[in-house]
Amino acid sequence: MSYNIAIDGPAGAGKSTIAKALAKRLNLIYVDTGAMYRAMALYLLRERINPDDAQAVSENCEEADITIRYEDGVQVVYLNGENVNAFLRTEEVGNMASKTSPQPAIRKKLVELQQKLAANSDCVMDGRDIGTCVLPNADVKIYMTASSYVRAKRRFDELTAKGESCDLEKIKADIEERDYRDMHRETSPLKQAEDALLLDTSDMTIEEVVSAMISICEEKNAARNQKGAEKSKEDI
Ligand code: C5P
Repeated sequence: MSYNIAIDGPAGAGKSTIAKALAKRLNLIYVDTGAMYRAMALYLLRERINPDDAQAVSENCEEADITIRYEDGVQVVYLNGENVNAFLRTEEVGNMASKTSPQPAIRKKLVELQQKLAANSDCVMDGRDIGTCVLPNADVKIYMTASSYVRAKRRFDELTAKGESCDLEKIKADIEERDYRDMHRETSPLKQAEDALLLDTSDMTIEEVVSAMISICEEKNAARNQKGAEKSKEDI
């Protein structure tokens, strides 16, 4: 059976940075499920589908074939055979993904893909519904969050470092709007799984978060091994 770590949390909590670092340290693959919803959103944007037209979204999503490959350890998303990694991280695609991801037809298709990946490989998977829906039996579940100001400031710093001009208040408002949509949708809303550990990273550095997560995984593994040892003693 494969070993799976599930990380959920709101936009900009730093999930992907942390999940990538954790995967590297623990020699697991990193599965970025947001990239899959973004690839679907990119397809719908290119087809000029109105995100509010549920029927058009659900009919058109059937035409998008999304597959994942690992090239030099990096997740590459293919949309109908095209490597679309370079197009996924824009605000436009992120907002379209947030609007269209509640559609059941999209979730069904992508959750199946995610479950298949996790069944076949030891992985760290991040998203919004991994602990609650995609991998309810994950070995470790973490819910990562940070205040909306901190998350907006991180995004602001990232964009300004790239030389892009942006407005902190606007980024914060977009983040809060996206949180609201992700948390209040009917299908698989973003929430902390009952058995997930909460990690607020507002005042933590990346290294501190990764170390905290490694400690959580080690404690969980030790508890599981002890349980296993006690069970085999009972069986003797
Ligand atoms: O994490 P990222 O910003 O790339 O995700 C883009 C959007 O995809 C999110 O706002 C969310 O609506 C959707 N998503 C989802 N379930 C996941 C991952 C992402 O609904 N497991």
